[in-house]
Amino acid sequence: MDIKGASAIVTGGASGIGAASARRLANRGAKVVIADLKAEDGEKIAAEIGGTFVAVDVTDTGQIEAAINAAVELGPLRAVVNSAGIGWAQRTIGKDGEFASAHNLDLYKKVIAINLIGTFDMVRLAATAMSRNEPNENGERGAIVNLASVAAFDGQIGQAAYSSSKGGVVGMTLPVARDLSAVGVRVNCIAPGLIDTPIYGEGPESEAFKAKLGESVLFPKRLGIPDELASMVEELITNSYMNAEVVRVDGGIRMPPK
Ligand code: NAD
Repeated sequence: MDIKGASAIVTGGASGIGAASARRLANRGAKVVIADLKAEDGEKIAAEIGGTFVAVDVTDTGQIEAAINAAVELGPLRAVVNSAGIGWAQRTIGKDGEFASAHNLDLYKKVIAINLIGTFDMVRLAATAMSRNEPNENGERGAIVNLASVAAFDGQIGQAAYSSSKGGVVGMTLPVARDLSAVGVRVNCIAPGLIDTPIYGEGPESEAFKAKLGESVLFPKRLGIPDELASMVEELITNSYMNAEVVRVDGGIRMPPK
């Protein structure tokens, strides 16, 4: 699917996998809207790729609509990448009563609201905008890629919220792809393994932690880099025959319980 001259939205595009994906889509000639909470980083990426930054919290439907309106102003919306996400590990056990705490429930609701409901809300509204596009020669009107995680299949200690949210994103892919096949919108999902982004924090402690995590990767024995994910995002957006798929991009990782 050619996205030259079309618009694209990347949620979470101010950082990590989202930023790398935004670069890839811009290289393909798309006019990219970076939809993120982080204004300073988002503006920087947008300036670098000739795109537009829109301040968006994906838990706010009005702000999602604003990003879609901004994109449609630039050209037909043909590509959406849902990369906004939080909380790869919520360490909610270990101390007495912590697992049963109200804080644990609040955290659970927050992670679901951002990672799962925020993703669905963007899918819902973006698909509606895409359905108004002229179809291309394949009958396609657009494509959506959602970022899940291998945590959907292989949850670790402290990841109840995160794994639930990402399992939800995986579970959403097939039915939504079925729903949207009626309007020529493809929907795919990527389950990344361990990718070196700010999601793990910064500083010496986090570097040591990442090096240890890298040992659990089958090959190569390191974390992935964001562009190794973005190349799959680009493929799923542009390959007209990819639909309703969940693709692991993880170096063959199978994590032992920590
Ligand atoms: P990142 O922290 O580098 O980027 C995430 C971006 O999402 C940030 O710019 C942040 O500001 C934005 N964001 C967070 N909450 C938001 C909200 N409510 N509204 C709008 N934007 C919001 O993370 P990343 O590693 O690039 O992760 C991207 C996606 O890939 C996430 O969904 C993450 O769960 C998933 N993922 C990452 C890894 C990994 O190892 N890095 C592994 C599996 C899945």
